[in-house]
Amino acid sequence: MTKIAAFNWKLKPTSLKDAQATIRSHKKYAKQYPTVQVVSAPPMPFVHKLISDTTPLSLSAQDMSTKLDGAHTGQSSVAMLREVGCSHVIVGHSERRAEFGETSRMVSEKALLAIEQGLTPVICFGEDERDSQGRYIDLLTEQLTTSLSLVPEKHASKVVLAYEPIWAIGTGATITTDDLFSTLILIKKILVDIYGDRRAKKIKILYGGSVKDYNADELAAVPGVSGFLVGGASHKPEMVKAIIASLS
Ligand code: PEP
Repeated sequence: MTKIAAFNWKLKPTSLKDAQATIRSHKKYAKQYPTVQVVSAPPMPFVHKLISDTTPLSLSAQDMSTKLDGAHTGQSSVAMLREVGCSHVIVGHSERRAEFGETSRMVSEKALLAIEQGLTPVICFGEDERDSQGRYIDLLTEQLTTSLSLVPEKHASKVVLAYEPIWAIGTGATITTDDLFSTLILIKKILVDIYGDRRAKKIKILYGGSVKDYNADELAAVPGVSGFLVGGASHKPEMVKAIIASLS
């Protein structure tokens, strides 16, 4: 299975010059490590300016509308994303869930619409805290099950999952390899319950949450990790290089 290094630029940088530098570094290291699929998710206003030559990158949006078209001011339709060259779209990022009240049901609507329009949805989910009573297990189960509820069995292999514990996003706190391993087993069990063994095995699961140059190797070595979703390090070329290299 080809591993994925997905870079979520978030709301950065503010200048086109810096955006060109970021995409240049993603392209450079994607070329250097051709066995890794590198997915780059710039802010929408830059996509149009950056798409002239993104080879060998896969271009992604950071979000999409639940609607295909119509009177929905300020949104981006997945059909439009496809038109400008996006092959992937991140849905359900914790920042969208927290800042815009995005629910798992909406995430599922987006995921289905993305698949129907030929894009790969990168579905994010993750607990806000890892409590000792294990409530996070129920939360993850509910979030994942609802986020996939509209995605039928025949399309199961077309989604990519990104397990992103919120407490590890942008904080520098990383999950231990043991905890990541046991959480991946839980996620796989949930997937088997929903889609059955054969289909569940085909679903890629990325890890996200303060992946950096200094921890990428040990996280990449955890069995079941199909790649990373990276935020802050996306703009730091030496980190981009180390993270892609860890998956090669
Ligand atoms: C993210 O925003 O999805 C993310 C994982 O951010 P960071 O790598 O900065 O923790």
